[in-house]
Amino acid sequence: MARIATLRRFVADITGLIETTSDEASILAGGRGLLADLVATDDWLPEVYAQPHPKYYQQYLLYGDPLDRLSIVSFVWGPGQETPVHDHRVWGLVGVLRGAEVARTYRYDDHGALVESPPEQLERGAVAAVSPTIGDIHRIANAFADRVSISIHVYGGNIGTIRRSVFDIGGGQPKDFVSGYANDAVPNLWADGHH
Ligand code: FE
Repeated sequence: MARIATLRRFVADITGLIETTSDEASILAGGRGLLADLVATDDWLPEVYAQPHPKYYQQYLLYGDPLDRLSIVSFVWGPGQETPVHDHRVWGLVGVLRGAEVARTYRYDDHGALVESPPEQLERGAVAAVSPTIGDIHRIANAFADRVSISIHVYGGNIGTIRRSVFDIGGGQPKDFVSGYANDAVPNLWADGHH
């Protein structure tokens, strides 16, 4: 049985963190440690939130703060799947729970062209950060062409409901999108009867 207590504790800890500070750098620093602890063990994610789709990477909402101050999402990448180039508009942390991922970050140069940074391989247990302050445009891909990878993402808002952008590295105009979520129900954090 999945150890839902691990996720429940993370929800409590990350909520406690944002209650103590609104400083983004402090949230990212503290949240990085908490997320690293969460993804250090891979025995807690309920199977239903670990299912790939044959065509599309999946985004399962695991927890949404009632005041939209944060959301926790499991991203499930089928073999070879990847995001478009996109932004977030809020702070975000990506922790690799299973498999491995490749992150590419982008910034605008002085001529208004998007410039890609060298790819960064995120191994199991690694945590990466994004935000409008530190760099908000990236693309994430499953590092594997023959197996599923899963990462746990935490955002400083309800990411599935935020109007944001996908980018055309060929120079076209950015397009608005709202990502939504694949699931209709969130995990029962108290399924084990504990608090
Ligand atoms: Fe992202």
